[in-house]
Amino acid sequence: MKKKGGYAFNKDSIKALENKSTSNGVEVIKGIKVTGFKRGSNSKAVTGVETDRGTIECEQVVVGAGPWARDFWNMLELPKTAHIKGKDGKMHETDMWKYWMLQEGVIGVEADFLKMNNGEQPPVIHVDSTAPLYSDKTKKLITDKIWGIYYKPDIDGLGVQGGTSPYVVDKHFDQVNVDPYGIESPEYQTTEAFNDMWCSALAHCQKRFEGKSDLYRKGPSGGLGCMTPDSFPIFDRFLENVYMIADSNHGYKMIGVGELVAKEILGTESDLLKPFRFNRYEKGELHPTSNSPFPWS
Ligand SMILES: Cc1cc2nc3c(=O)[nH]c(=O)nc-3n(C[C@H](O)[C@H](O)[C@H](O)COP(=O)(O)OP(=O)(O)OC[C@H]3O[C@@H](n4cnc5c(N)ncnc54)[C@H](O)[C@@H]3O)c2cc1C
Repeated sequence: MKKKGGYAFNKDSIKALENKSTSNGVEVIKGIKVTGFKRGSNSKAVTGVETDRGTIECEQVVVGAGPWARDFWNMLELPKTAHIKGKDGKMHETDMWKYWMLQEGVIGVEADFLKMNNGEQPPVIHVDSTAPLYSDKTKKLITDKIWGIYYKPDIDGLGVQGGTSPYVVDKHFDQVNVDPYGIESPEYQTTEAFNDMWCSALAHCQKRFEGKSDLYRKGPSGGLGCMTPDSFPIFDRFLENVYMIADSNHGYKMIGVGELVAKEILGTESDLLKPFRFNRYEKGELHPTSNSPFPWS
């Protein structure tokens, strides 16, 4: 056994150190797959992280695995269902995770197509609407149900990038093939129907997009998101020393959470994180449900 940077790696995993970098005293080791957790014999606590390069012994685990939250949850043998206390005071059992497919794309307009009168680029625009949505191409009704889109200048200058409200993957979470992920997935890709819907919604929101549907850049895009039972994040400690950050696809809203989690691990509980504990389900202390078609707004 050899000690490195405060962590103990067994001899099988020492190769892992070849692919590490250090920043602000933190060692980042890339290209390693977590395959399981080693548990203590006298407690539930995790004593080591099993990887495809051997076991890394540890005192504390922090998991922030985005769409792979399900895999870590399963490796930790946490419950497949959550018990939720309803407004009626009765307990309801529901699947722990639900996958949603986020559809996104780019319309190949000029890079400054959305530039504002003051010459600056606009913020992200997000519109939810119950107005009937008609195809900008065929003028046929696309939907008369609530719909939502977001859009912003594409970060690579390819035009305007954005998406629609995602759809629920109609499978038990354990049946969903998360890998290969994103644009490499043969199963979960943005559909043809997205092109018409998103471009028509853009034209509905801003006249300058009218007649531009043909500029949609076809190609793989989008990706899966792993949602908690109420689609809000979970920040909590499990099995004594495993801290789980299950972001439920809330993205930029997670900025700052790392520092709060670090403080919690060191013993200072955060009032901001408290409402996001796992036991909110059995206590019936869920977050308000929005009317938006997006699970994260
Ligand atoms: C299509 C799409 C568009 C989005 N657009 C936006 C946006 O515009 N703005 C925004 O704020 N948010 C956006 N989000 C949400 C945002 O991407 C996520 O909320 C965020 O990336 C979650 O961060 P994370 O660090 O928790 O997980 P991730 O960023 O997903 O990181 C998890 C990491 O764990 C690694 N991993 C998984 N399994 C293992 C394993 N077994 N062993 C080791 N490592 C493993 C993965 O490789 C990955 O690097 C989008 C999400 C999707 C799917």
